[in-house]
Amino acid sequence: TPRILSGMQPTHDSLHLGNYLGAQVSWVRMQSDFDAFFCVVDQHALTVGPTPEELRRRTRVTAAQYLAGGIDPERSTVFVQSHVPEHSQLAWVLNCLTGYGEAARMTQFKDKAGKRGTEGTNVGLFTYPMLMAADILLYDATAVPVGEDQRQHLELTRDLAQRFNARYGTTFVIPEAHIPAETAKIMSLQEPTAKMSKSADNQAGNLMMLDAPKANTKKIKSAVTDTDNAVRYDPEAKPGIANLLRIHSALSGEKVDALVEQYAGENKYGALKTDVAALVAEVQEPFKARVDELVGDPAELDRVLARGAERAREVASATLARVYDAVGFLPAA
Ligand code: ATP
Ligand code: MG
Repeated sequence: TPRILSGMQPTHDSLHLGNYLGAQVSWVRMQSDFDAFFCVVDQHALTVGPTPEELRRRTRVTAAQYLAGGIDPERSTVFVQSHVPEHSQLAWVLNCLTGYGEAARMTQFKDKAGKRGTEGTNVGLFTYPMLMAADILLYDATAVPVGEDQRQHLELTRDLAQRFNARYGTTFVIPEAHIPAETAKIMSLQEPTAKMSKSADNQAGNLMMLDAPKANTKKIKSAVTDTDNAVRYDPEAKPGIANLLRIHSALSGEKVDALVEQYAGENKYGALKTDVAALVAEVQEPFKARVDELVGDPAELDRVLARGAERAREVASATLARVYDAVGFLPAA
């Protein structure tokens, strides 16, 4: 069976609706057709400087959210990145294959570093895309289900895999990004031209999966829209309404066109928001309840992660051995 790999950063206790709709829904759908690996990428999360308590807690609760969202640990491999040292070992090799200018062109680095200023930025944030390439290439993944914001990192991963194969002989499978058509970029409710983001300064624009449904309802009611008063799908002129329509459509299964008809007429923004809030609460409530259960039994969760790490290491160590031999590292014994 072909493989897929994907992951989320434990940079916050809760995932947001963008993580859920942009990535997790595809994960769940794809896990029946692929040998699936889902990683909690805790080494990536270290780039934002969490306290040790925060990182430990967020790593567990992120894994719990994978399961609560429908990942079946009997079928898929769920593991923590730092449990598999091959990720950082391969990342080093890929760092040595990446041009400085090539890495400096990554728009996500420029965005995130831009917000903190060069002094507040660490080198880990700069080399992040090469660690992400290692995450993927270690598992010979053919497809990587992610949101739109990861497209450029996936392109870099493909370039590095091709470059390695050309220089050292075929070693890596060339992966393809699997980006959903409608939900690839769920926008902030407060700033509908920027994506929802766990590490955003303004959390008022994020619908968090583990918040009380009431809190999310309040955020939806005060979502930024426009003064035009008519529900139309126009992402350029009406990004806030377009975002609400896409969220509605993804959760209700109704086509956006049908929704536009349904909310025809004046002053329907309130009705649209009420319905979106109900749809969000409907997925969120059981999700949150399941997470509470899982976090309440950390021993079971840790067993899942231990099993996952063992399975992941089997695959990852074989790939790394191929790589070390290909580049000419001397065998240890
Ligand atoms: P951070 O701000 O810490 O980078 P994040 O919200 O961007 O957090 P990640 O853990 O970096 O979340 O990404 C996890 C997955 O969710 C990736 O596949 C990413 O493409 C996807 N994703 C993130 N934000 C969105 C969004 N707003 N809409 C759709 N998909 C998203
Ligand atoms: Mg991100």
